[in-house]
Amino acid sequence: MSRAIVSLNAGSSSIKFALFTLDADGPRHAAAGKLEGIGIAPRLVARDAEGTVLVDRNWTNGAGLTHEVLLHDLFTWAGDHLPEHEIIAIGHRVVHGGMWFARPLLVDDALLAALDALCPLAPLHQPHNLAAIRAIRALAPALPQVACFDTAFHHDRADTATRFALPRALHDKGIRRYGFHGLSYEYIARTLQEIDPELAGGRVIVAHLGNGASLCAMHDGKSVDTTMGFTALDGLMMGTRCGAIDPGVVLHLQTQEGMSAVDVEALLYNRSGLLGVSGVSSDMRALHKSDDPCAAEAIDLFTWRAAREAAALVGALGGLDGLVFTAGIGENDPTVRAVICERLGWLGIAIDPSANACDAPIISTADSRITVRVIPTDEERMIAIHTIGALPTAGGGQ
Ligand code: ADP
Repeated sequence: MSRAIVSLNAGSSSIKFALFTLDADGPRHAAAGKLEGIGIAPRLVARDAEGTVLVDRNWTNGAGLTHEVLLHDLFTWAGDHLPEHEIIAIGHRVVHGGMWFARPLLVDDALLAALDALCPLAPLHQPHNLAAIRAIRALAPALPQVACFDTAFHHDRADTATRFALPRALHDKGIRRYGFHGLSYEYIARTLQEIDPELAGGRVIVAHLGNGASLCAMHDGKSVDTTMGFTALDGLMMGTRCGAIDPGVVLHLQTQEGMSAVDVEALLYNRSGLLGVSGVSSDMRALHKSDDPCAAEAIDLFTWRAAREAAALVGALGGLDGLVFTAGIGENDPTVRAVICERLGWLGIAIDPSANACDAPIISTADSRITVRVIPTDEERMIAIHTIGALPTAGGGQ
Protein backbone atom coordinates (compact mmCIF):
# COMPACT_ATOMS: atom_id res chain seq x y z
CA MET A 1 0.00 0.00 0.00
CA SER A 2 1.40 3.42 -0.92
CA ARG A 3 0.95 6.53 1.16
CA ALA A 4 -0.91 9.32 -0.62
CA ILE A 5 -1.97 12.94 -0.28
CA VAL A 6 -5.21 14.34 -1.69
CA SER A 7 -5.39 17.96 -2.87
CA LEU A 8 -8.87 19.46 -2.76
CA ASN A 9 -10.18 22.63 -4.30
CA ALA A 10 -13.79 23.08 -3.19
CA GLY A 11 -15.88 25.74 -4.92
CA SER A 12 -19.55 26.63 -4.87
CA SER A 13 -20.65 24.09 -7.46
CA SER A 14 -17.60 21.90 -7.94
CA ILE A 15 -14.86 20.08 -6.05
CA LYS A 16 -11.61 19.41 -7.91
CA PHE A 17 -9.29 16.81 -6.44
CA ALA A 18 -6.00 15.10 -7.17
CA LEU A 19 -4.27 12.18 -5.54
CA PHE A 20 -0.48 12.06 -5.25
CA THR A 21 1.63 9.21 -3.98
CA LEU A 22 4.71 10.07 -1.92
CA ASP A 23 7.75 9.22 -3.98
CA ALA A 24 11.35 9.91 -3.00
CA ASP A 25 11.57 12.74 -5.54
CA GLY A 26 8.28 14.39 -4.51
CA PRO A 27 4.57 13.84 -4.99
CA ARG A 28 3.68 11.65 -7.98
CA HIS A 29 0.36 12.28 -9.67
CA ALA A 30 -1.78 9.12 -9.45
CA ALA A 31 -5.33 10.28 -10.13
CA ALA A 32 -7.43 13.42 -10.47
CA GLY A 33 -11.01 14.34 -10.97
CA LYS A 34 -13.87 16.70 -10.53
CA LEU A 35 -17.22 16.57 -8.85
CA GLU A 36 -19.27 19.19 -10.63
CA GLY A 37 -22.86 20.34 -10.92
CA ILE A 38 -23.29 20.32 -7.12
CA GLY A 39 -26.79 21.54 -6.28
CA ILE A 40 -28.11 20.88 -9.79
CA ALA A 41 -27.00 17.58 -11.32
CA PRO A 42 -23.84 16.27 -9.66
CA ARG A 43 -21.36 14.34 -11.76
CA LEU A 44 -18.11 12.74 -10.67
CA VAL A 45 -15.38 12.04 -13.19
CA ALA A 46 -11.91 10.81 -12.18
CA ARG A 47 -8.98 9.65 -14.27
CA ASP A 48 -5.72 7.96 -13.45
CA ALA A 49 -2.33 9.44 -14.39
CA GLU A 50 -2.59 7.98 -17.91
CA GLY A 51 -5.97 9.59 -18.47
CA THR A 52 -8.00 6.37 -18.18
CA VAL A 53 -11.44 7.08 -16.75
CA LEU A 54 -11.72 5.53 -13.27
CA VAL A 55 -15.26 6.69 -12.59
CA ASP A 56 -17.96 8.66 -14.42
CA ARG A 57 -20.98 8.80 -12.19
CA ASN A 58 -24.20 10.83 -12.14
CA TRP A 59 -26.52 10.92 -9.15
CA THR A 60 -30.20 10.41 -9.86
CA ASN A 61 -32.26 13.08 -8.07
CA GLY A 62 -28.97 14.73 -7.10
CA ALA A 63 -30.22 18.32 -6.97
CA GLY A 64 -30.60 18.35 -3.19
CA LEU A 65 -27.29 16.69 -2.41
CA THR A 66 -24.93 18.85 -0.38
CA HIS A 67 -21.14 19.12 -0.57
CA GLU A 68 -21.01 17.05 2.62
CA VAL A 69 -23.03 14.14 1.21
CA LEU A 70 -21.08 14.16 -2.05
CA LEU A 71 -17.72 14.29 -0.27
CA HIS A 72 -18.83 11.29 1.75
CA ASP A 73 -19.65 9.45 -1.50
CA LEU A 74 -16.29 10.52 -2.94
CA PHE A 75 -14.49 9.15 0.11
CA THR A 76 -16.39 5.90 -0.10
CA TRP A 77 -15.56 5.62 -3.80
CA ALA A 78 -11.85 6.31 -3.13
CA GLY A 79 -11.80 3.70 -0.34
CA ASP A 80 -13.43 1.08 -2.59
CA HIS A 81 -11.57 1.81 -5.83
CA LEU A 82 -8.14 3.00 -4.78
CA PRO A 83 -7.41 0.47 -2.01
CA GLU A 84 -3.72 0.47 -2.87
CA HIS A 85 -3.43 4.03 -1.52
CA GLU A 86 -3.45 5.02 2.13
CA ILE A 87 -4.51 8.66 2.33
CA ILE A 88 -2.36 10.21 5.04
CA ALA A 89 -3.45 13.87 4.70
CA ILE A 90 -5.64 16.22 2.72
CA GLY A 91 -4.49 19.60 1.50
CA HIS A 92 -7.01 22.31 0.69
CA ARG A 93 -6.88 25.39 -1.42
CA VAL A 94 -8.17 28.10 0.89
CA VAL A 95 -8.72 31.32 -0.95
CA HIS A 96 -8.07 33.79 1.84
CA GLY A 97 -5.39 33.82 4.48
CA GLY A 98 -6.07 37.46 5.33
CA MET A 99 -3.39 39.59 6.93
CA TRP A 100 -1.99 36.82 9.10
CA PHE A 101 -1.67 33.48 7.35
CA ALA A 102 1.30 33.48 5.02
CA ARG A 103 2.21 29.78 4.93
CA PRO A 104 0.37 26.46 4.84
CA LEU A 105 -0.99 25.39 8.22
CA LEU A 106 -2.34 22.23 9.79
CA VAL A 107 -6.03 22.74 10.49
CA ASP A 108 -7.24 22.84 14.08
CA ASP A 109 -10.22 24.43 15.82
CA ALA A 110 -8.46 27.75 16.35
CA LEU A 111 -7.40 28.02 12.71
CA LEU A 112 -10.88 27.14 11.48
CA ALA A 113 -12.38 29.84 13.68
CA ALA A 114 -9.86 32.39 12.38
CA LEU A 115 -10.58 31.38 8.78
CA ASP A 116 -14.34 31.65 9.40
CA ALA A 117 -13.74 35.26 10.36
CA LEU A 118 -12.24 35.85 6.89
CA CYS A 119 -15.39 34.69 5.04
CA PRO A 120 -16.67 38.26 4.58
CA LEU A 121 -13.49 38.97 2.57
CA ALA A 122 -14.22 36.13 0.11
CA PRO A 123 -17.91 35.28 0.54
CA LEU A 124 -18.18 33.37 -2.74
CA HIS A 125 -15.23 31.07 -2.12
CA GLN A 126 -14.04 30.83 1.49
CA PRO A 127 -17.23 29.30 2.98
CA HIS A 128 -17.04 26.42 0.47
CA ASN A 129 -13.34 25.83 1.18
CA LEU A 130 -14.06 25.65 4.91
CA ALA A 131 -17.19 23.53 4.50
CA ALA A 132 -15.08 20.88 2.75
CA ILE A 133 -12.57 20.90 5.62
CA ARG A 134 -15.40 20.48 8.14
CA ALA A 135 -17.05 17.74 6.11
CA ILE A 136 -13.80 15.75 6.05
CA ARG A 137 -13.26 16.33 9.76
CA ALA A 138 -16.64 14.76 10.36
CA LEU A 139 -15.84 11.81 8.11
CA ALA A 140 -12.27 11.22 9.30
CA PRO A 141 -11.54 13.22 12.47
CA ALA A 142 -7.97 11.94 12.81
CA LEU A 143 -6.91 12.68 9.23
CA PRO A 144 -4.55 15.69 9.14
CA GLN A 145 -5.77 18.53 6.92
CA VAL A 146 -3.66 21.41 5.70
CA ALA A 147 -4.90 24.82 4.58
CA CYS A 148 -2.92 26.30 1.66
CA PHE A 149 -3.69 29.93 1.02
CA ASP A 150 -4.10 31.55 -2.37
CA THR A 151 -3.09 34.89 -0.89
CA ALA A 152 0.12 33.64 0.78
CA PHE A 153 2.48 34.06 -2.19
CA HIS A 154 1.70 37.79 -2.27
CA HIS A 155 1.87 38.29 1.48
CA ASP A 156 5.31 39.84 1.69
CA ARG A 157 4.92 42.51 -0.98
CA ALA A 158 5.91 46.05 -0.10
CA ASP A 159 3.29 48.12 1.66
CA THR A 160 2.87 50.27 -1.47
CA ALA A 161 1.64 47.27 -3.44
CA THR A 162 -0.97 46.32 -0.84
CA ARG A 163 -2.36 49.74 0.06
CA PHE A 164 -5.42 51.42 -1.41
CA ALA A 165 -5.44 55.21 -1.33
CA LEU A 166 -8.05 55.07 1.43
CA PRO A 167 -7.91 56.32 5.02
CA ARG A 168 -5.30 54.42 7.02
CA ALA A 169 -7.83 52.98 9.45
CA LEU A 170 -9.41 50.95 6.64
CA HIS A 171 -6.04 49.48 5.62
CA ASP A 172 -5.37 48.57 9.24
CA LYS A 173 -8.77 46.87 9.34
CA GLY A 174 -7.74 44.64 6.44
CA ILE A 175 -9.11 46.54 3.46
CA ARG A 176 -6.05 46.10 1.30
CA ARG A 177 -4.84 44.48 -1.89
CA TYR A 178 -4.21 40.79 -1.14
CA GLY A 179 -3.85 39.18 -4.55
CA PHE A 180 -4.89 35.62 -5.46
CA HIS A 181 -3.86 32.66 -7.69
CA GLY A 182 -0.88 32.41 -5.34
CA LEU A 183 -0.61 28.61 -5.52
CA SER A 184 -0.40 28.81 -9.29
CA TYR A 185 2.23 31.56 -9.18
CA GLU A 186 4.27 29.71 -6.61
CA TYR A 187 4.23 26.58 -8.77
CA ILE A 188 5.35 28.61 -11.81
CA ALA A 189 8.11 30.33 -9.80
CA ARG A 190 9.43 26.94 -8.64
CA THR A 191 9.24 25.43 -12.10
CA LEU A 192 10.96 28.42 -13.68
CA GLN A 193 13.73 28.12 -11.11
CA GLU A 194 14.22 24.50 -12.22
CA ILE A 195 14.08 25.01 -15.99
CA ASP A 196 15.51 28.50 -16.42
CA PRO A 197 17.21 29.73 -13.23
CA GLU A 198 18.65 32.81 -14.89
CA LEU A 199 15.23 34.03 -15.98
CA ALA A 200 13.74 33.04 -12.60
CA GLY A 201 16.21 35.42 -10.96
CA GLY A 202 15.03 38.31 -13.14
CA ARG A 203 11.89 40.38 -13.65
CA VAL A 204 9.07 38.19 -14.89
CA ILE A 205 5.36 38.69 -15.46
CA VAL A 206 3.27 35.52 -15.15
CA ALA A 207 -0.08 35.65 -16.93
CA HIS A 208 -2.52 33.19 -15.33
CA LEU A 209 -5.28 33.30 -17.93
CA GLY A 210 -8.13 30.92 -17.10
CA ASN A 211 -11.78 31.52 -16.22
CA GLY A 212 -10.32 33.58 -13.44
CA ALA A 213 -7.39 35.61 -14.74
CA SER A 214 -4.63 37.67 -13.20
CA LEU A 215 -1.04 38.75 -13.70
CA CYS A 216 1.79 38.56 -11.21
CA ALA A 217 4.96 40.62 -11.42
CA MET A 218 7.83 38.65 -9.88
CA HIS A 219 11.40 39.55 -9.16
CA ASP A 220 13.71 36.72 -8.19
CA GLY A 221 10.71 34.42 -7.84
CA LYS A 222 8.90 36.67 -5.36
CA SER A 223 5.65 38.52 -5.93
CA VAL A 224 6.22 42.26 -6.33
CA ASP A 225 2.69 43.12 -7.43
CA THR A 226 -0.37 41.48 -8.89
CA THR A 227 -3.56 42.57 -10.64
CA MET A 228 -6.11 41.08 -8.24
CA GLY A 229 -6.69 43.10 -5.12
CA PHE A 230 -9.10 42.98 -2.20
CA THR A 231 -11.17 40.41 -4.06
CA ALA A 232 -10.70 38.16 -7.07
CA LEU A 233 -12.79 40.66 -9.03
CA ASP A 234 -10.03 43.18 -9.64
CA GLY A 235 -7.57 43.45 -12.52
CA LEU A 236 -8.02 41.63 -15.81
CA MET A 237 -11.24 41.00 -17.67
CA MET A 238 -12.20 37.35 -16.95
CA GLY A 239 -14.71 34.73 -18.06
CA THR A 240 -17.63 36.26 -16.19
CA ARG A 241 -15.93 38.87 -13.97
CA CYS A 242 -15.43 42.46 -15.02
CA GLY A 243 -11.93 43.04 -13.64
CA ALA A 244 -10.87 46.55 -12.64
CA ILE A 245 -13.72 49.00 -12.93
CA ASP A 246 -14.24 52.61 -11.93
CA PRO A 247 -15.80 52.35 -8.43
CA GLY A 248 -18.10 55.16 -9.57
CA VAL A 249 -19.87 52.62 -11.80
CA VAL A 250 -20.76 50.54 -8.74
CA LEU A 251 -22.17 53.61 -6.99
CA HIS A 252 -24.10 54.61 -10.11
CA LEU A 253 -25.65 51.15 -10.49
CA GLN A 254 -26.92 51.35 -6.94
CA THR A 255 -28.03 54.98 -6.78
CA GLN A 256 -29.30 55.51 -10.34
CA GLU A 257 -30.13 52.04 -11.69
CA GLY A 258 -31.79 50.87 -8.50
CA MET A 259 -29.66 47.77 -8.16
CA SER A 260 -29.09 46.25 -4.74
CA ALA A 261 -25.63 45.27 -3.52
CA VAL A 262 -26.57 41.64 -4.21
CA ASP A 263 -27.62 42.50 -7.78
CA VAL A 264 -24.36 44.35 -8.40
CA GLU A 265 -22.34 41.48 -6.97
CA ALA A 266 -24.06 39.00 -9.28
CA LEU A 267 -23.55 41.33 -12.26
CA LEU A 268 -19.84 41.91 -11.64
CA TYR A 269 -18.97 38.30 -10.74
CA ASN A 270 -21.27 36.26 -12.97
CA ARG A 271 -22.57 38.28 -15.91
CA SER A 272 -19.63 40.46 -16.94
CA GLY A 273 -16.25 39.75 -18.54
CA LEU A 274 -16.13 37.70 -21.75
CA LEU A 275 -19.73 36.60 -21.21
CA GLY A 276 -21.08 40.10 -20.63
CA VAL A 277 -19.26 41.74 -23.52
CA SER A 278 -19.85 38.96 -26.06
CA GLY A 279 -23.35 37.96 -24.99
CA VAL A 280 -22.24 34.58 -26.34
CA SER A 281 -20.12 32.70 -23.79
CA SER A 282 -17.57 32.99 -21.00
CA ASP A 283 -15.53 30.27 -22.68
CA MET A 284 -12.70 31.46 -24.89
CA ARG A 285 -12.97 28.45 -27.22
CA ALA A 286 -16.63 29.21 -27.87
CA LEU A 287 -15.79 32.85 -28.62
CA HIS A 288 -13.17 31.86 -31.21
CA LYS A 289 -15.75 29.64 -32.91
CA SER A 290 -18.49 32.28 -32.91
CA ASP A 291 -18.98 34.59 -35.90
CA ASP A 292 -20.81 37.14 -33.76
CA PRO A 293 -18.83 40.43 -33.92
CA CYS A 294 -19.44 40.90 -30.18
CA ALA A 295 -17.45 37.70 -29.56
CA ALA A 296 -14.49 39.16 -31.47
CA GLU A 297 -14.89 42.40 -29.53
CA ALA A 298 -14.79 40.51 -26.23
CA ILE A 299 -11.53 38.75 -27.22
CA ASP A 300 -10.08 42.07 -28.35
CA LEU A 301 -10.93 43.70 -25.02
CA PHE A 302 -9.47 40.71 -23.13
CA THR A 303 -6.11 41.07 -24.87
CA TRP A 304 -6.19 44.89 -24.64
CA ARG A 305 -6.75 44.76 -20.91
CA ALA A 306 -4.12 42.06 -20.38
CA ALA A 307 -1.49 44.04 -22.31
CA ARG A 308 -2.42 47.27 -20.53
CA GLU A 309 -2.18 45.70 -17.06
CA ALA A 310 1.05 43.93 -18.02
CA ALA A 311 2.55 47.26 -19.06
CA ALA A 312 1.56 48.72 -15.69
CA LEU A 313 3.37 45.84 -13.96
CA VAL A 314 6.49 46.51 -16.04
CA GLY A 315 6.43 49.89 -14.32
CA ALA A 316 6.18 48.18 -10.93
CA LEU A 317 9.15 45.92 -11.81
CA GLY A 318 11.24 48.66 -13.39
CA GLY A 319 11.69 46.61 -16.57
CA LEU A 320 11.02 43.12 -17.88
CA ASP A 321 13.09 40.02 -18.68
CA GLY A 322 10.43 37.38 -19.15
CA LEU A 323 6.76 36.71 -19.70
CA VAL A 324 5.13 33.36 -18.83
CA PHE A 325 1.68 32.25 -19.96
CA THR A 326 -0.25 29.70 -17.93
CA ALA A 327 -3.77 28.30 -17.15
CA GLY A 328 -6.47 27.29 -19.66
CA ILE A 329 -6.17 30.20 -22.08
CA GLY A 330 -2.50 30.97 -21.40
CA GLU A 331 -1.43 27.36 -22.03
CA ASN A 332 -3.66 26.60 -25.00
CA ASP A 333 -4.57 29.70 -26.95
CA PRO A 334 -1.89 30.84 -29.45
CA THR A 335 -4.12 33.58 -30.83
CA VAL A 336 -4.62 35.30 -27.51
CA ARG A 337 -0.92 34.92 -26.64
CA ALA A 338 0.13 36.35 -30.01
CA VAL A 339 -2.12 39.41 -29.74
CA ILE A 340 -1.05 40.18 -26.16
CA CYS A 341 2.62 39.89 -27.19
CA GLU A 342 2.03 42.01 -30.28
CA ARG A 343 0.49 44.73 -28.13
CA LEU A 344 3.60 44.52 -25.89
CA GLY A 345 5.97 44.44 -28.88
CA TRP A 346 7.35 47.87 -27.98
CA LEU A 347 9.00 46.23 -24.95
CA GLY A 348 11.12 44.11 -27.26
CA ILE A 349 8.94 41.00 -27.36
CA ALA A 350 9.08 39.00 -30.60
CA ILE A 351 7.08 35.80 -30.98
CA ASP A 352 8.02 32.81 -33.12
CA PRO A 353 4.69 31.96 -34.80
CA SER A 354 5.44 28.27 -35.30
CA ALA A 355 6.59 27.78 -31.68
CA ASN A 356 3.54 29.71 -30.50
CA ALA A 357 1.20 27.64 -32.67
CA CYS A 358 2.26 24.41 -30.94
CA ASP A 359 2.35 25.74 -27.35
CA ALA A 360 6.15 25.23 -27.25
CA PRO A 361 7.90 25.85 -23.91
CA ILE A 362 9.59 28.95 -25.39
CA ILE A 363 7.50 30.91 -27.90
CA SER A 364 9.74 33.97 -28.33
CA THR A 365 12.32 34.24 -31.12
CA ALA A 366 16.02 33.71 -30.36
CA ASP A 367 16.64 37.46 -30.65
CA SER A 368 13.59 38.59 -28.65
CA ARG A 369 14.79 40.88 -25.86
CA ILE A 370 12.21 39.26 -23.58
CA THR A 371 11.87 35.48 -23.21
CA VAL A 372 8.28 34.32 -23.50
CA ARG A 373 7.44 30.90 -22.10
CA VAL A 374 4.40 28.66 -21.75
CA ILE A 375 4.38 26.69 -18.48
CA PRO A 376 1.41 24.52 -17.52
CA THR A 377 0.36 25.31 -13.97
CA ASP A 378 -0.37 22.66 -11.34
CA GLU A 379 -2.01 24.13 -8.27
CA GLU A 380 -2.94 20.65 -7.00
CA ARG A 381 0.72 19.58 -6.98
CA MET A 382 1.65 22.78 -5.13
CA ILE A 383 -0.99 21.95 -2.52
CA ALA A 384 0.41 18.42 -2.20
CA ILE A 385 3.96 19.75 -1.75
CA HIS A 386 2.76 22.16 0.93
CA THR A 387 0.70 19.50 2.65
CA ILE A 388 3.66 17.14 2.93
CA GLY A 389 5.78 20.02 4.26
CA ALA A 390 3.21 20.99 6.89
CA LEU A 391 2.81 17.51 8.37
CA PRO A 392 4.44 17.17 11.78
CA THR A 393 6.48 14.17 10.58
CA ALA A 394 8.08 16.42 7.95
CA GLY A 395 9.24 18.80 10.62
CA GLY A 396 6.55 21.25 9.47
CA GLY A 397 3.27 21.80 11.26
CA GLN A 398 2.45 24.80 13.32
P1 ADP B 1 -10.33 27.87 -14.16
O1 ADP B 1 -9.36 26.86 -13.57
O2 ADP B 1 -10.11 29.29 -13.73
O3 ADP B 1 -11.76 27.44 -14.12
P2 ADP B 1 -9.03 27.17 -16.67
O4 ADP B 1 -7.62 27.43 -16.31
O5 ADP B 1 -9.47 25.76 -16.81
O6 ADP B 1 -10.03 27.94 -15.72
O7 ADP B 1 -9.30 27.94 -18.06
C1 ADP B 1 -10.56 27.92 -18.67
C2 ADP B 1 -10.48 28.78 -19.92
O8 ADP B 1 -9.45 28.22 -20.76
C3 ADP B 1 -11.76 28.82 -20.74
O9 ADP B 1 -11.98 30.13 -21.22
C4 ADP B 1 -11.42 27.90 -21.90
O10 ADP B 1 -12.12 28.25 -23.06
C5 ADP B 1 -9.95 28.18 -22.07
N1 ADP B 1 -9.32 27.14 -22.85
C6 ADP B 1 -9.11 25.86 -22.52
N2 ADP B 1 -8.55 25.19 -23.55
C7 ADP B 1 -8.44 26.08 -24.56
C8 ADP B 1 -7.93 26.04 -25.90
N3 ADP B 1 -7.47 24.90 -26.40
N4 ADP B 1 -7.97 27.18 -26.64
C9 ADP B 1 -8.46 28.30 -26.12
N5 ADP B 1 -8.94 28.43 -24.86
C10 ADP B 1 -8.92 27.33 -24.11
